[in-house]
Amino acid sequence: MSNKIQLDLTPKEAHDKINSLAANERLIKRSIDARRRGNIRVLLTLESGVDSGEVVDSGFMARDVSDCPSAVIVGSGPAGLFAALALIEKGIKPIILERGKNVRERKKDVASINRGGEVDPDSNYCFGEGGAGTYSDGKLYTRSKKRGDNSRILNILHSHGADASVLWEAHPHIGTDKLPNVIEAIRQTIEKCGAEVRFGSRVTELLIKNKKVVGVKLLNDESIESRAVIIATGHSARDFYEMLHQKEVELEAKNFAVGVRVEHHQELIDKIQYKAERGDFLPPAAYSLVTQAKGRGVYSFCMCPGGFIVPAATATGECVVNGMSPSGRNNRFANSGIVTEVRSEDLEDYKKHFGVLAGLQFQAQLESMAHTQAGRNGNQAPAQRLYDFVNGKHSNSLLETSYHPGIEASDLHHWLPRFVGDSLREGFRAFNNKMQGFLTNEAQVIGVESRTSSPVRVPRDPQTMMHTVIEGLFPAGEGAGYAGGILSSAIDGMLAAEKLSEFLNS
Ligand SMILES: Cc1cc2nc3c(=O)[nH]c(=O)nc-3n(C[C@H](O)[C@H](O)[C@H](O)COP(=O)(O)OP(=O)(O)OC[C@H]3O[C@@H](n4cnc5c(N)ncnc54)[C@H](O)[C@@H]3O)c2cc1C
Repeated sequence: MSNKIQLDLTPKEAHDKINSLAANERLIKRSIDARRRGNIRVLLTLESGVDSGEVVDSGFMARDVSDCPSAVIVGSGPAGLFAALALIEKGIKPIILERGKNVRERKKDVASINRGGEVDPDSNYCFGEGGAGTYSDGKLYTRSKKRGDNSRILNILHSHGADASVLWEAHPHIGTDKLPNVIEAIRQTIEKCGAEVRFGSRVTELLIKNKKVVGVKLLNDESIESRAVIIATGHSARDFYEMLHQKEVELEAKNFAVGVRVEHHQELIDKIQYKAERGDFLPPAAYSLVTQAKGRGVYSFCMCPGGFIVPAATATGECVVNGMSPSGRNNRFANSGIVTEVRSEDLEDYKKHFGVLAGLQFQAQLESMAHTQAGRNGNQAPAQRLYDFVNGKHSNSLLETSYHPGIEASDLHHWLPRFVGDSLREGFRAFNNKMQGFLTNEAQVIGVESRTSSPVRVPRDPQTMMHTVIEGLFPAGEGAGYAGGILSSAIDGMLAAEKLSEFLNS
């Protein structure tokens, strides 16, 4: 019989314990308590009395679906891939249509963007095999506890090559150096089961008859029939949402967030968070900040310890930043999005011209403005020292950065929309009260962080997860407005697939 033990240890003791687990012990959770100055504790939860030969089961039930009825999935991000696994378990053959390239080909396009090359609108940091999560930090946690079975997703990721620590870290992550192989392995599992994964297959039209889905059309004019389609296109597929709008598929505007990415030296963040040198046995420190400023929420988003800021635009003429980290989180810099809410009432002018797509247009114009400020020169991004930004001063010089395409001094305090800039500046002041030393001119902001979440939602019935009007259409993941991040998108994809199977079998 197994039982659980909790240990409260110093970082070194915890490190030693993890590396000398007895054959009948298994680590279930590790978390760090850094609240007490000079007395950081590491909390381990162990299960003892387990069978030493016990292998963690991925929980995925593979079966041959090559001759089974099929359903189309648009997009191979976390929502699309995990939807495919769930369809296979239900005896349905997924046909995944992905506009981008496989991870290996995509890697070359991402490298070219970092060297200042043109952005391929089908293959970039957001589009291609694995979606926006492939070249990311691979943080695997979600603030929501309601969404379903996180551990099922973590087990599948682990059985496809993610480190075992994803099963026990309180805040697990995979790392951008490991993610492509994990994604590729999941795709191979899907293909081995007889499903189809087609790259270079941009869906340009959803085919609808009498308010029922009948298939999709690709860029090359090929049509694929299907009476059930999961759309898992992510938050950057503006052309896809414009197409849905033109076809009068009902969409809803939703609140979202925009801002900047802030970059500090990791050493400074370690000192602030651990209140001491990090030493050899603790991971690079992270932070999570939230405050109210000028009547709206300001918060940190996708914090990447030991990471890089990356150019995440999906078209030439846009400047968009995001962040990623390698598995060791061993870069010298720490970065995080710092963003503020954009509400419907902020966009009255946009709504007059663009209706439900107002948020998409606002995002696009912000990205174009950032590009005009600096990005014309080979994907460079506009930047300003943090203290200067908060105090409305031009930066005469900039700091070293992890952002490969390079940065150019720009007065972000001047050209960011006023409600965004003012909230962020007040937010940074408040964050300095929570993390003293955070607001410094030895840090800088780089713009713009505009793709935090989708500004539209594709409405669906909460029970059937099917579109409220179009039969057979299953919106899923972040782009459809029902998830934020890798884990919640994967869970949403699986749930949508289960509902699709009920629909096909009804
Ligand atoms: C640089 C970066 C770092 C990130 N880091 C993290 C992190 O550490 N942790 C975390 O939880 N989240 C992170 N995110 C966010 C996370 O990647 C997304 O929340 C998640 O990938 C959303 O999953 P999804 O499947 O809904 O959509 P996506 O991952 O966006 O996938 C959508 C897919 O659909 C395809 N597609 C779009 N339009 C079409 C079309 N018309 N036809 C065919 N295919 C189409 C796209 O090419 C893409 O592959 C990061 C994002 C970026 C860009």
